[in-house]
Amino acid sequence: MSYRVGVISGDGIGPEIVAEARKVLDCIGEKYGHTFEYEEILMGGCSIDATGEPLTEQAIAQAKGSDAVLMGSIGGNTSTSPWYQLPPNLRPEAGLLKLRKSLNLFANLRPAYLYEELKEACPLRDDIIGDGFDMMIMRELTGGLYFGERKTEEVDGVLTAVDTLTYNENEIRRIAKRGFDIAMKRQKKVTSVDKANVLDSSRLWRKVVEEVAAEYPEVTYEHMLVDNCAMQLVKDPKQFDVILTENMFGDILSDEASMVTGSIGMLSSASLNDTKFGLYEPSGGSAPDIAGKGIANPIATILSAAMMLRYSFDLDREADAIELAVKRVLKDGYRTIDIMPQDAKKAAVKQVGTAEMGDLIVERIN
Ligand code: NAD
Repeated sequence: MSYRVGVISGDGIGPEIVAEARKVLDCIGEKYGHTFEYEEILMGGCSIDATGEPLTEQAIAQAKGSDAVLMGSIGGNTSTSPWYQLPPNLRPEAGLLKLRKSLNLFANLRPAYLYEELKEACPLRDDIIGDGFDMMIMRELTGGLYFGERKTEEVDGVLTAVDTLTYNENEIRRIAKRGFDIAMKRQKKVTSVDKANVLDSSRLWRKVVEEVAAEYPEVTYEHMLVDNCAMQLVKDPKQFDVILTENMFGDILSDEASMVTGSIGMLSSASLNDTKFGLYEPSGGSAPDIAGKGIANPIATILSAAMMLRYSFDLDREADAIELAVKRVLKDGYRTIDIMPQDAKKAAVKQVGTAEMGDLIVERIN
């Protein structure tokens, strides 16, 4: 099969880490008989330099014409880069927000997986970590509190701010279906997180998710209040498979879940709409402090490419091959600078750069 992949290399370490993901995709293509056709799309600071805008209509059309988009990262040093002298709607991040909106990317997926070899980076106790954990935070991305009406006004001489949290049943149903579909590809368990003891929006959330759950008899379904979920993530993260939740709760819980896994350089993510299309990117930023040095960790981007194969192209076997190769490379003792242990000699590991890490993963796929 042939797949059209839009590529947003972006700024900072973006081009370096995307190059390694492409190397890995090409290796998968050769080994399993697929063709990946890449089309570079300008977004972020590099687009501002070239066109005066962080995302042009042409770039949006290119993204829409792709089967999926693989992204590095955008933005620069927010204190020193001239991009941050521009009005907010012309800064690099405005491009990403506009792209997400134009593509209707309402479902955000962030896996939190603890590698045996990186246990040291996990701040939890050994008895809690056990033999590791593997969960997927599924966050609604285009509704709720962040998109509701807001205002600040004086009421009886007192400054008063209002934010509105709105969800309709269709918005809840589409993300819930996505969550259950993804659970079917994993351990078949969904924990839906809400605050149904207080909020009307959460009561509707729970009602609709329960209706969707009835359509997936193979999936074990439970609901959990958000405050309890925040505690359970550090008390017993092993219990979770897919955590399905609304925008603000997901924002907070996904950061909490990613912290317990260790390095930002390992964390992939995907944003999906209601077709097979998705935007795949590492969770970290453009790391301007290390850009151009050849030392950035490409693994989060490589794992994002694996998510693209799994969720946009239904190439589960190929995605498994990439994920296995990443595990092997860690097992064989190779680390980029961000995941080097305190005592490298004792841990018997070797530091490698960005391109070498990509090569080592390719070797293991082959
Ligand atoms: P950052 O994630 O870029 O960097 C934070 C720290 O993590 C830095 O020390 C960096 O060196 C390190 N780091 C990040 N990714 C790494 C990797 N792959 N390998 C090794 N180390 C890595 O966050 P920041 O410094 O707050 O932001 C820098 C720029 O990135 C800003 O312009 C910000 O707006 C932008 N940003 C973009 C995205 C995106 O493109 N989706 C996301 C977050 C931040």
